[in-house]
Amino acid sequence: MKFCSECAHPVSLLIPPDDNRPRFVCEQCGTIHYQNPKMVIGSIPVWEEDGKIRVLLCKRAIEPRYGYWTLPAGFMENNETTTEAALRETFEEAGARIQLHGLFSMLNVPHVHQVHLFYRATLLDLDYQAGIESLEVELFAEHEIPWSDIAFPTVGHTLKAFFADMARIRAEGGQYGLHTEDIRKPMRQTD
Ligand SMILES: [Zn+2]
Repeated sequence: MKFCSECAHPVSLLIPPDDNRPRFVCEQCGTIHYQNPKMVIGSIPVWEEDGKIRVLLCKRAIEPRYGYWTLPAGFMENNETTTEAALRETFEEAGARIQLHGLFSMLNVPHVHQVHLFYRATLLDLDYQAGIESLEVELFAEHEIPWSDIAFPTVGHTLKAFFADMARIRAEGGQYGLHTEDIRKPMRQTD
């Protein structure tokens, strides 16, 4: 941040009185510009047919990670709820209509100032299509997932936890869990 969004004066990075960390402060109008983490919300859209479960992934048409595969997800907007964000991002990126189920994963990514949430979801039909931020959209069974071409560690963690829960539920019953993880630093693409 270089200029105050209130008065356009250059801002200074300093610790305000009674605070304990540096903030962008406008010394002309006194505004303290707090910066806080952003929410990234997505879904795990599932299609089940003949007992075979497949998950919808999008190949990114934008940076970062152009050409890599991701679950449909994106930044939450003001004036919307987390479930509204999941539905909207899934429609925008994959043209897919879904029914949402429970929250499945919550991943802190402190080094990029983000928190990622993914909801389980069922595709309502197969009329999906790539949105402008996707090159293609495709259903993948677990053994077909392009693990080495997954865009973000949070997506890899979420997919691995999802298929692990699915296998456990099929073998012994039970429920999907809520998976939390702190991703402290960039990981290898294959993680
Ligand atoms: Zn100002």
